[in-house]
Amino acid sequence: MTAPTPQAPITTTPITQDVLTIPRKAPEGQRPNLIGLTRPQLRAALIAAGTPEKQAKMREGQIWQWLYHWGVRDFASMTNLSKDYRAGLEQAFDIRVPEIVTRQVSADGTRKYLLKIDGGHEVETVYIPEEGRGTLCISSQVGCTLTCSFCHTGTQKLVRNLTAAEIVGQVMVARDDLGEWPVPGEPKREERLVSNVVLMGMGEPLYNFDNVRDAMQIVMDGEGISLSRRRITLSTSGIVPEIARTAEEIGCLLAISFHATTDAVRDRLVPVNKKWNIATLLGALRDYPRLTNSERITFEYVMLDGVNDSDEDARRLVRLIAGIPAKINLIPFNEWPGAPYRRSSWDRIEAFADIIFKAGYASPIRTPRGEDIMAACGQLKSATERGRKSAAQIAAEAAS
Ligand code: SAH
Ligand code: SF4
Repeated sequence: MTAPTPQAPITTTPITQDVLTIPRKAPEGQRPNLIGLTRPQLRAALIAAGTPEKQAKMREGQIWQWLYHWGVRDFASMTNLSKDYRAGLEQAFDIRVPEIVTRQVSADGTRKYLLKIDGGHEVETVYIPEEGRGTLCISSQVGCTLTCSFCHTGTQKLVRNLTAAEIVGQVMVARDDLGEWPVPGEPKREERLVSNVVLMGMGEPLYNFDNVRDAMQIVMDGEGISLSRRRITLSTSGIVPEIARTAEEIGCLLAISFHATTDAVRDRLVPVNKKWNIATLLGALRDYPRLTNSERITFEYVMLDGVNDSDEDARRLVRLIAGIPAKINLIPFNEWPGAPYRRSSWDRIEAFADIIFKAGYASPIRTPRGEDIMAACGQLKSATERGRKSAAQIAAEAAS
């Protein structure tokens, strides 16, 4: 037996929602970007730039394939378009994806990309290779307006929504780095390197709904990157009014950052709980349009030593979600400098998992990946913003 560790203090911070949304307009001196436009938007942009309406549908299809099937980044390579037409496109548009600033590769093969986006901001994207599949964890915002007290991203001050181009661009940049685009004349590769996408990086995806939806529609399009909707998982802290739209307008799988079994504890871990508490959240999930056994909701539960990891918590969790087709993903807490919590012991995590498993739920324990490069869940925080809050500040806030 190990001695009980003193309970870590829990931070409470007010909820703010003052995100600056960047319009689709190009930054000064740049042409409008074709990346990130949905098919109707792409067609409208081509027409606005002089493509005759009659040809617009065909041109849209051709350009779409170059961008998202072949992954080309220059108009000159679009060889089924006339030279003049290509020159016109060149004058009117850009093809811009985020720029890789650094790429770190973990001892376990996980790759963390630091990407530069318009305005000089930076976001992180993580690629996690596994046996027979590869998961790309993408960001939806720079930072996050929510301030979950166990999450590194939540301590980042500056927040802005990513554009659809910056969201789909993360998938494109990872495919560039992995060499995953098809090569004309070469046989189609059997195995996909980016086989799954999870919206579990920086930011709250449901606070940037439209851009996330548009980007995922591009990723799912059968004439491009062509990922099935069942291979995309959106994780939310519980933005209740947007949950049903996720099923209706995106159709991907849903994961909920649940993390606590009483409102008192959830209020402190996931402060947005003060707005939509556990009962309200579970009500929205019971009404979730796509709720079936084959499309179960994932409940994410971060294991915090002495905070939310008792047998009683496990039993309460099972009672709370009764009737919801679900699996529970236990996430050992990933530490970050100045974090006010400790990871539960492996014995505790296993005992907790066992109670859930015996109640009939799958309860996988998420193996932390890429910890040596701070790429694991909740450790992301872009370098430009790092250091704005010192470890001492975080500790002081946690104690207050
Ligand atoms: N904002 C969204 C998605 C990004 S966070 C959300 O909160 O769901 C992705 C997952 O990582 C969430 O379940 C989040 O609660 C979890 N997480 C955050 N910080 C963590 C940490 N330090 N250790 C382990 N998991 C963490
Ligand atoms: Fe934001 Fe998710 Fe981190 Fe909470 S856990 S601060 S919602 S990124």
